[in-house]
Amino acid sequence: MQDCDYQNTRLTHLGRDTSVSAGFVNVPICRGSTILADNLEQWAQRKEPDNPYASYGRFTNPTLQTLTQAVAELEGAYQACLFPSGLAACTHALLGMLKVGDHLLLPDSVYGPVRAFAQQVLACRMGIQVQFYEPSLGEGIASLLQPNTKVVYVESPGSATFEVQDIPAIARCAHAVGAYVLMDNTWATPLFFQPFEHGVDVSIQAATKYLTGHSDALLGVASANERAWPLLRRAAHDFGQTAGPDDAFLALRGLRTLGVRLRQHQASALQIAQFLEGHPQVKQVLHPALESHPGHALWKRDFKGSTGLFGMVLAPLSEEQLSRFFKALRLFGIGLSWGGFESLALPIDMPNRNGQALFGDGQLLRVHVGLEEPQHLQQDLAQALDVAYSQPTSCEISELRLVAQQA
Ligand SMILES: *Cc1c(COP(=O)(O)O)cnc(C)c1O
Repeated sequence: MQDCDYQNTRLTHLGRDTSVSAGFVNVPICRGSTILADNLEQWAQRKEPDNPYASYGRFTNPTLQTLTQAVAELEGAYQACLFPSGLAACTHALLGMLKVGDHLLLPDSVYGPVRAFAQQVLACRMGIQVQFYEPSLGEGIASLLQPNTKVVYVESPGSATFEVQDIPAIARCAHAVGAYVLMDNTWATPLFFQPFEHGVDVSIQAATKYLTGHSDALLGVASANERAWPLLRRAAHDFGQTAGPDDAFLALRGLRTLGVRLRQHQASALQIAQFLEGHPQVKQVLHPALESHPGHALWKRDFKGSTGLFGMVLAPLSEEQLSRFFKALRLFGIGLSWGGFESLALPIDMPNRNGQALFGDGQLLRVHVGLEEPQHLQQDLAQALDVAYSQPTSCEISELRLVAQQA
């Protein structure tokens, strides 16, 4: 069991092989395709599948390998490989495990583009049986497992809706039928959730988010245990997947400060979530570290911390009010992605489950709390909520009367 404090210290020391970096603290950015061998004997060794000294730049190089080893160590995995985006890590991990006629289970709360890939590519074009399940199922997943179930996918907390999943229970059931458990561990990062201790076989990081941490690169890492590694590596090689050394360097640089950044994201997000929970216009705050969250007990049992991304459901408001809310925000940007230093907010279409709006008639928002002073972020949200829900001023009312009279 690796605790958080141990990992914080490892973040500063892992990936520092001075024989690779010629004494420099940081590994250099190795660009290139061709790697020369001194003789045919060395060339033959290079082509061995698990040789750390690759035969070709697409397989790995010292910069890429420093990152994959660092992430594998942090996640508690056997080995890891890189992809050019988080989504590519998700889709290729799935492609590596599945074949025609297999059955795949995905939570209803799965990251949207993974849902689209499963439906449009795996189900429609590759003959894989795709089934979505209620994320809170836990060991109830046993009733959905089939002899041909090859992968049970988990993501906790769920994208946009933040349900916490009972991953150990799901993994026990999945392993009983020989299925692999694939997890999207982007929200917690390996600092706050140790996937392999909880029964996961492949863990995915959209390194674009917290690992890189500065919104300046797109990158994915998939880590596997010994059982799943041959399939994952095969998929990455067969599909020609790799990543650029500059992006890998940025991720390595981001890793150094992951611990201190997450400490701040955690504290600020929790403070703001608590403030929002007490706000009259906020119906619900979807943050697993709040006691009011339905997944709080599971989160407390399995996770070592919470990060900066959470959801909230606003009291019903018109499109015009929602627009006023976003126009009034000064510190929160409107944009996709998260995990960088900056605060972001986005309206999310209300998800449907079994034909019903998941959070009733409210407006779902996703918030990423960045590294600004939390008091300033709280004031920003407070004033934007005031603007959105305020009654029109007397001047505006007389104008409205005038319009009504003329109509
Ligand atoms: C952003 C994200 C991804 C995809 O990462 P990209 O690098 O943007 O492709 C995957 N999973 C989750 C949970 C994400 O938030």
